[in-house]
Amino acid sequence: NLILAIETSCDETAAAVIRNGNEIVSNVVSSQIASQTRFGGVVPEIASRHHVEKITLVIEKALKDANLDPEELDAVAVTEGPGLVGALLIGINAAKAFAFAHGLPIIGVHHIAGHIYANALVQSMEFPLLALVVSGGHTELVLMKEHGHFEVIGETRDDAAGEAYDKVARVLNLPYPGGPHIDRLAHEASEGVVFPRAWLEDSYDFSFSGLKSAVINFKHNMEQRGEKIIPEQVAKGFQDSVVEVLTTKTVRAAKEFQVKQVIAAGGVSANKGLRTSLEQAFAKEEIPFYVPPLNLCTDNAAMIGAAAASMYNASVRGNLSMNGNPGMELKSWSKE
Ligand code: ATP
Ligand code: FE
Ligand code: MG
Repeated sequence: NLILAIETSCDETAAAVIRNGNEIVSNVVSSQIASQTRFGGVVPEIASRHHVEKITLVIEKALKDANLDPEELDAVAVTEGPGLVGALLIGINAAKAFAFAHGLPIIGVHHIAGHIYANALVQSMEFPLLALVVSGGHTELVLMKEHGHFEVIGETRDDAAGEAYDKVARVLNLPYPGGPHIDRLAHEASEGVVFPRAWLEDSYDFSFSGLKSAVINFKHNMEQRGEKIIPEQVAKGFQDSVVEVLTTKTVRAAKEFQVKQVIAAGGVSANKGLRTSLEQAFAKEEIPFYVPPLNLCTDNAAMIGAAAASMYNASVRGNLSMNGNPGMELKSWSKE
């Protein structure tokens, strides 16, 4: 099947054409990070305005790059949630208009299912599979017994990993989004400041707010003593704590559920420290581990098309009454 996919849940306006759920025919992403950097985060009204300005161009470019007529498509897919409601609606309305104009079915995709299915674009998913989802708004361990089956076995009790990265970056006066900057600084230090790890006993849940507070307190205490912090050492200490907890829990879950494959997904899986740590840990355990290339880890529409292809095969269809669902839950679409 051939699917046009649209993603506007946050600060990327994106469209892509995906063939059979595993081949990227075209993939267009217009980022507004530059305009959001000035505000140190995403401002919903600005995000919506940017989507309105770009959406038509982005969709046209995705079709042109794919070199095909709308008549050749089988469906239109769009991120239905979660995300900023105003931002979601712009993609959804564009998708509805396109679907109506060309008589195509519309499929509403969960953004996190999209992040997970980014992996289907680089390799064939084998089940049972464990996905570590680490993004700006989510930190979850998801068990999949088959395509379209999702069981959240652990999740963050407070901040998401990406959120923690962005907040700590702000403490270090680094630009938004902070993840890549902390990653870079962390690799410039040989010694990191020692920060706590939140293990939460045997749970597969996560917590990052204590770590964030520890970083803030460390800076505060240093300043009170008239000393300067070394940002590289703080970045490394913070990243080491995040990476060690994420890696340890993912390995433990992979063994407990005897999965055939482990994948990482979401913006924070672009993190070099995390990728290396997971790669080494799973090489040692001899469990296959995959993570998509960087441009498929952060928000894009190709991943939405990949998830939609699996939904299309499972006969899942939306309709033109679709609305933005900012708090949408990750639901399975498999038969069982
Ligand atoms: P969600 O997917 O949960 O709805 P989102 O779409 O805003 O949230 P993503 O776009 O998937 O999140 O990821 C963005 C996050 O990834 C930001 O918090 C950013 O700091 C983080 N990030 C990006 N690159 C890196 C990196 N190299 N290291 C750490 N974090 C990173
Ligand atoms: Fe995302
Ligand atoms: Mg984003």
